[in-house]
Amino acid sequence: MEIDNKKCEICGSEINSYDFYITEDKNSFFCSQDCCKEFYMESNEENFVHASTCGGYYDCKRLNNISDRCRTFHKINFSPYNISPVDILPNRCFPAEISIIRTNMKLYDFVIESEKQSSKLNEETLKLTKSNVKLAKAMLILTAVNVVGVIVQIILQYY
Ligand SMILES: [Zn+2]
Repeated sequence: MEIDNKKCEICGSEINSYDFYITEDKNSFFCSQDCCKEFYMESNEENFVHASTCGGYYDCKRLNNISDRCRTFHKINFSPYNISPVDILPNRCFPAEISIIRTNMKLYDFVIESEKQSSKLNEETLKLTKSNVKLAKAMLILTAVNVVGVIVQIILQYY
């Protein structure tokens, strides 16, 4: 589902892709339950879905560490005849666990990135060394030519 740059139908605030509400037909987006309720008052649309994704979802996905509770879609019904709870809060991992996973993944990315950088640096150093050798050779030839020139001048002065 594409939720980039979506705005809340009621209050116009930016939709948080990790936590938002939609109508069942997926046409209208809302930032909060309050905004859903307001929409229900206006339109009589009583069925909504609360889409909630854990902040560590994409890191855990890379680790193949995803379970049903990492991303939840809870149905909400505002009908006055509905006796079931309006919304159930998702049962997620403890924030400490999530932050450990996220920190480790950041560290992992950093190590991979530094390895890439250092191999690139090595390549460049090698290129630089090669061009330095070329430069040194050119200087040597130039110096040799100059020395020959000086000798020729000295010889010419004597004769
Ligand atoms: Zn809103």
